[in-house]
Amino acid sequence: MYDFVIIGGGIVGMSTAMQLIRAYPEASILLLEKESGPARHQTGHNSGVIHAGVYYSPGSLKARFCLAGNRATKAFCDEQGIAYDECGKLLVATNELEMQRMRALWERTAANGLQREWLSAGQLKEREPNISGLGGIFVPSSGIVNYAEVTAAMAREFQRHGGEIRYGAEVTGLEELATELRVHTRLGTFCARFMVSCSGLMADRLVRMLGLDPGFSICPFRGEYYQLPARHNRIVNHLIYPIPDPSMPFLGVHLTRMIDGSVTVGPNAVLALKREGYRKRDISLADTWAMLGDAGIRRVLRDNLRPGLVEMKNSLFKRGYLQQVRKYCPSLGVQDLQPYPAGVRAQAVSRDGKLIEDFLFRNTRRSVNVCNAPSPAATSAIPIGAYIIEQIEAQLQGLPAFAKAARQVRAAVSL
Ligand SMILES: Cc1cc2nc3c(=O)[nH]c(=O)nc-3n(C[C@H](O)[C@H](O)[C@H](O)COP(=O)(O)OP(=O)(O)OC[C@H]3O[C@@H](n4cnc5c(N)ncnc54)[C@H](O)[C@@H]3O)c2cc1C
Repeated sequence: MYDFVIIGGGIVGMSTAMQLIRAYPEASILLLEKESGPARHQTGHNSGVIHAGVYYSPGSLKARFCLAGNRATKAFCDEQGIAYDECGKLLVATNELEMQRMRALWERTAANGLQREWLSAGQLKEREPNISGLGGIFVPSSGIVNYAEVTAAMAREFQRHGGEIRYGAEVTGLEELATELRVHTRLGTFCARFMVSCSGLMADRLVRMLGLDPGFSICPFRGEYYQLPARHNRIVNHLIYPIPDPSMPFLGVHLTRMIDGSVTVGPNAVLALKREGYRKRDISLADTWAMLGDAGIRRVLRDNLRPGLVEMKNSLFKRGYLQQVRKYCPSLGVQDLQPYPAGVRAQAVSRDGKLIEDFLFRNTRRSVNVCNAPSPAATSAIPIGAYIIEQIEAQLQGLPAFAKAARQVRAAVSL
């Protein structure tokens, strides 16, 4: 019998595991991951941006955790000797509507307590000669890192403190009993006093395995990227982001300096017909059928039909995709868009057809389940892990055998 079983070897599961064993060194903790190594899904297929916290509603978990996570990620990288670059980010407005939206973002960054600078068109040109716009906001604390590397370091820390990881251990069933939680996997059954599920694109399925109606479904959105040729590696000095449409959940196609020195363009957001389908031709009939049968997802698709079709068109035709970048970086041509692997986002959708904005958790007596952890969850993974440990601590109060342990956890974890 383990004290804790954690499901999911992405950055959220690994951060939770690392902090749990640091806070609770006497516990036996097992992390189960279905793939053959860590960070094989969202965590290993993203933009690598350490977000500053520009966009999120003040007071939301996203705003709180992103701000704290920006500092915590950099501190963890310093501690572990992981390369990151605090290169700063520029939000660029290219028309009057975007200028208006940018003013709203300026207020929001103030409410979120961010350091930032308003740039005129001339100042923008001075900082970024290859970028055109009517104005911009510069946010210095944004940075870049390789999150797969961060996750691998968390895994090493977890194991160094005595934590156990089993790869190739897909969880196929869960049973919550009065005295324990049974986790059935392809490698056999593991029993635990408590379980944490951080299963990303499979979050709703894990909640359902507990015999609960999750009340949401995961809608997978593929984010397709291109990479610029190496001769453009210095085309921008900062991360360059468009001003997003506030009614859409994604940030728009951006120019991202990667930590390996290359520059990517993307990601867009197209409905994925397979949850872990990274290529355009990846289709799962079971996943597609489940999506079409879900009233919430059908409503999202209906309400966003036009932008959804435009995204699909731009996904199929490079020139349409290019137009989105040329708005602020006019010198790029279609030959500059070279292939680069896509990622798939796990976005929770409520039964009434709303894209759930904030991070979402669901607890049972013996489990904490991460239900919605889209961007900026890589940035926020350390505060999310600390929050999960607070949740565990609260849950443990109700389990007498754990009362002492709960006190230890409370003493060790502070957010
Ligand atoms: C295209 C894209 C760009 C993004 N850009 C950024 C960015 O720049 N900055 C940022 O902060 N965030 C970004 N994000 C978001 C960020 O990557 C995710 O929010 C974060 O990685 C989520 O981590 P996770 O551990 O919850 O999920 P994942 O990394 O998906 O990990 C979940 C793990 O659970 C495992 N699992 C699932 N089911 C089971 C099962 N039944 N049994 C065992 N294991 C299971 C999976 O194999 C997987 O390894 C981006 C995401 C995408 C897709």
